[in-house]
Amino acid sequence: MSFDLAARLAERRTADLFRQRPLLQSPQGPEVQVDGQRLLAFCSNDYLGLANHPDVLAALQQGAQRWGVGGGASHLVVGHSTPHHELEEALADFTGRPRALLFSTGYMANLAAVTALVGQGDSVMEDRLNHASLLDAGLLSGARFSRYLHNDAASLAQRLNKASGNTLVVTDGVFSMDGDVADLAALSATAKAHGAWLMVDDAHGFGPLGAQGGGLVEACGLSVDDVPVLVGTLGKGFGTAGAFVAGSDELIETLIQFARPYIYTTSQPPAVACATLASLQLLRSEHWRREHLQALIQQFRQGASELGLRLMDSHTPIQPIVVGDSARALRLSALLRERGVMVGAIRPPTVPAGSARLRVTLSAAHSHAQVARLLDALASSWSLLNQEMPIDA
Ligand SMILES: *Cc1c(COP(=O)(O)O)cnc(C)c1O
Repeated sequence: MSFDLAARLAERRTADLFRQRPLLQSPQGPEVQVDGQRLLAFCSNDYLGLANHPDVLAALQQGAQRWGVGGGASHLVVGHSTPHHELEEALADFTGRPRALLFSTGYMANLAAVTALVGQGDSVMEDRLNHASLLDAGLLSGARFSRYLHNDAASLAQRLNKASGNTLVVTDGVFSMDGDVADLAALSATAKAHGAWLMVDDAHGFGPLGAQGGGLVEACGLSVDDVPVLVGTLGKGFGTAGAFVAGSDELIETLIQFARPYIYTTSQPPAVACATLASLQLLRSEHWRREHLQALIQQFRQGASELGLRLMDSHTPIQPIVVGDSARALRLSALLRERGVMVGAIRPPTVPAGSARLRVTLSAAHSHAQVARLLDALASSWSLLNQEMPIDA
């Protein structure tokens, strides 16, 4: 008996599903150096261009001078420092929720919230296209787990009729691989009608969406009563690292008492919280970033549809080009890279079989000229791809 890892890896290669990590040799930004090559990148989640902003960097440096580097302990022991606490208060104010709780990553925030709220005898219902961390959280919770059809409140209602115990409905706000947005008004009304709670993970909405960058929940004007559990991550639009859960005082106190991924881990470096306080300021106040991003999205969609590319129903910075099979997606990504443009190919199991895609992401740090370069590279790569690997009708 042994682990036949070689066979497992070989199988993944033959299925065109083998993953490789590009080596980033520069800071995050529109122009990066990757594996020794200068590339124009359309694949980071730094939607507002804050990951390398001078104010955010200065706040990190000053934070490290003042607070040192390591968090040193978990929040419940002696790792909960003043910058963490101030950031929680600022995030509560930003989201219009009574309280917010800071986590080291979004993955952990999701595991924490779901497993603290439901367990054996309860029910958890998830959109079938939810982020992996939400699906993992649902499975780990031990609650009865079911997936409803994508963004379909009627499909949710059917399942809610059969639910038992405390019931949590969980959805991405902006869907991370498709860029479309959840119909929160319908999902919230359906959950409420069945006495269930709605949890929204808006990792990709905070920053780009909402008048002040408060994401889809701000854009839809939903209160803590409509969305009792609101999750945001800080590694995307905020450009830093970590995540938060926002909600009622009782919710946050429950997480502090019972959420294992909160309790049994070291707090994030306090200087990172200092950096996030600075990026939150920029994210809320610099509306031009959202406006410029929207203009880039329009430019991209217009140009890509003129090229005959298959786009998805998205008005967010996530603009996938659906290609179908994994080999074609990899080849299109390689052709773009030969033209100095980096866009990641997203393959199963991250997306459903047969829906491999190039996940184009736009950032307020991009210029219109850079989006024009992307469109040029797409035009020639796309026609080459169709010569090399025609789709048999
Ligand atoms: C990225 C992402 C996460 C995970 O957040 P991290 O801070 O990167 O761990 C959770 N949910 C969604 C929808 C995401 O896109």
